[in-house]
Amino acid sequence: MQFKTTRGEGQPVSAARAICLGLAGDGGLFVPEQFPSVDLKEALGQPDYPALAAFILEKFLTDYDPAFLRETVRQVYGEAFGEGTAPLRKAGDGMYSLELWHGPTCAFKDFALQLMPRLLVEAKRMLGDTTTTAILVATSGDTGKAALAGYCDVPGVTITVFYPSHGTSEVQRLQMTTQQGENVAVYAVQGNFDDAQTGVKRVFGDADVAKQLAERGVQLSSANSINWGRLVPQIVYYFHAYSQLVRSGALKAGEKADFCVPTGNFGDILAGWYAKQMGLPVGRLICASNKNDVLTEFFATGVYNARRPFYRTTSPSMDILVSSNLERLLYHMAGPEKVKGWMKQLFETGSYEVEPEVMERICADFSAACADDATASAQIRSLFEKEGYLCDPHTAVAFSAAVRNKGEAPMVVLSTASPFKFPKDVLAALGQPLPEDEFEAMAALAQYAGQPAPQALAVLRSLPERFDKTIRPESLRDVVLGE
Ligand SMILES: *Cc1c(COP(=O)(O)O)cnc(C)c1O
Repeated sequence: MQFKTTRGEGQPVSAARAICLGLAGDGGLFVPEQFPSVDLKEALGQPDYPALAAFILEKFLTDYDPAFLRETVRQVYGEAFGEGTAPLRKAGDGMYSLELWHGPTCAFKDFALQLMPRLLVEAKRMLGDTTTTAILVATSGDTGKAALAGYCDVPGVTITVFYPSHGTSEVQRLQMTTQQGENVAVYAVQGNFDDAQTGVKRVFGDADVAKQLAERGVQLSSANSINWGRLVPQIVYYFHAYSQLVRSGALKAGEKADFCVPTGNFGDILAGWYAKQMGLPVGRLICASNKNDVLTEFFATGVYNARRPFYRTTSPSMDILVSSNLERLLYHMAGPEKVKGWMKQLFETGSYEVEPEVMERICADFSAACADDATASAQIRSLFEKEGYLCDPHTAVAFSAAVRNKGEAPMVVLSTASPFKFPKDVLAALGQPLPEDEFEAMAALAQYAGQPAPQALAVLRSLPERFDKTIRPESLRDVVLGE
């Protein structure tokens, strides 16, 4: 399997090279040349999550040794994750929650970021690449910690994380600033997530930075979901969810299931569309947004307009105005020439418009809906009171969208973070008194909901903070160059 770029320049590359490079040389994102088709029976027959993961990954990562993939996914998904890796819980009539937060950092991003470092190290070995890989991450909250945990003390790699000084929850911030490891660094960047992401993108595009680093044997790479190595592991849990629906008798093999995904950079939901292209019976994919509803507007009108107010919400990992992975979907729907034009327009004017024929094709698979903080909060409360199911604010945005888009088919909501990452917002939603202290809120939530806070979060209270610097977005370059 070879990978092309969404902007159509250069030759296709192997999976190993796509994973090492992150972003393509023409500024585009790597996409598979074709979609391998999967025999549904064979997929459903896989005995456990690691086996299913190996089965899917082998179809895309054809340059990797299958034995390496099998062994690695067993280490990653067998050991680092608890509670059956990605359990599917019933949360209403025909409604299910796919809990993707039983990994080490309590966010769905662990699925990709526990695996990707190992794929990268193996890719470098295969390519005979002896450079040091300097990973730069812009994070709106969860990616930073999940990437730090994944890359911590990985040989030949350093990782620097930039998070917005305004925009993460206190638990998310502490998860990052208390990170152990010799090869890690963490900075707060003044501003919001887009300021941090734009700063990182600028460094990636700076030829002078690349040259200076190359002289020191260092190559930049990304752990953001623009890297193919982030996307491919996410395809697996769509198959896993479907398989659990079949096993529980909620549907018969071949019948369709709908999926609703709390969306930011469009990586998680795109993986669902990829699963569909591979033959998984996916009905509708519902793209759920918070008050930053740029995608809801796009699906309704065909106009992608990033020039709009930016809102800080209680679902910070979805506070995004430029949804990078949408470029991949547009490529599959309209080809590289169109994509190049739209991305140029986006860069120059902050918006672009996709013609109705293309939108018609997109809307055959996707719906979209948004929910503001008050709606998400009400959703947390009603879900807990009616179904006894506790969810975080991101998942709540998706539940709200799911309820409004529920058809005949079972609806699987992707639950992307542990509610204990956002204890204050969740407690407030439940109408409970709010302790001042974040960790007292965590304990109060545990008591009220009758379930323990994950150990990885509860322990943060007693860990020393190692990183306390705040920088301006313009200084990112100097930080990367060590100046
Ligand atoms: C990253 C994240 C999202 C958004 O996922 P995308 O792949 O960026 O669309 C949603 N919820 C949580 C909790 C996240 O961490």
